[in-house]
Amino acid sequence: MKDIAIVTGGSRGIGRAIALQLAEDGYDIWLNYRINTAAANEVRTGIEAAGRTCKCLQFDISDKGMIRKTLQPEIDRLNRKEERISVLINNAGISRDNIFHWMTDEEWEDVINTDLNSFFYVTKCVTPHMNENKHGKIINISSLSGQIGNFSQINYSAAKAGLIAATKTLAKEFGRRKIRVNAVAPGLIETDMTKKVEGSDEILKMIPMKRFGKPEEVAGVVSFLCSDKASYVTGAVIPVNGGLYMP
Ligand code: NDP
Repeated sequence: MKDIAIVTGGSRGIGRAIALQLAEDGYDIWLNYRINTAAANEVRTGIEAAGRTCKCLQFDISDKGMIRKTLQPEIDRLNRKEERISVLINNAGISRDNIFHWMTDEEWEDVINTDLNSFFYVTKCVTPHMNENKHGKIINISSLSGQIGNFSQINYSAAKAGLIAATKTLAKEFGRRKIRVNAVAPGLIETDMTKKVEGSDEILKMIPMKRFGKPEEVAGVVSFLCSDKASYVTGAVIPVNGGLYMP
């Protein structure tokens, strides 16, 4: 049986590191991205170098119509005797920061659609198949911002907190179906998203480990959660933040 892992937002940053790690772990990868085909192809090359296959799926996860049009037929086409979707990583996300007073409808809606609503629509496509198999692992990439809130990030914090609540709820609903659902809450990780973070020196002083994390350090935790070593872990929110916040 071929085990497939779907990674949303897998062309860059944390999603890229997760896709490459899961390929090393033995999964074939379905790699979603939005626009950056060159970056997605580069990740595919890395996955193939690890001896696994990679199907690049370009669709905008903020658009439920596109999710259904692109992802659903791929799931319907699976050869169920030989392959199954084992893992879903809801990773793709954006930030559009502004203080609440100045935040526009568009900034609010773009982030809620991309970071939270996508979870609902992508997971809805995948879980009937996981239910059939009574097998699956779902990991949602939340954020420290969703655990404690963050200045200028009301849209992002609300979306990421929503993901945490959704993770816990789904873990309760799916426990008996042998589908484990967990979240990872990264702190500050070196990716394109954090290149624009202001006051990095001040932030570094607050992080006990005195550095930003690397995408591979998030991928390592995701790999563990997907493995049988985590076979009794569900509904958990694992911080990967260098000690910045200890819930
Ligand atoms: P990056 O900006 O580096 O990469 C984002 C990825 O998501 C890209 O692959 C991008 O595709 C994809 N993506 C963005 N929007 C969409 C969309 N609408 N449809 C499909 N794909 C999309 O982000 P990070 O790697 O830093 O973040 C990954 C996740 O981790 C996010 O959910 C983020 O909120 C979370 N996170 C990040 C932290 C950090 O410090 N970096 C901290 C806490 C959480 P493309 O290349 O085509 O644009």
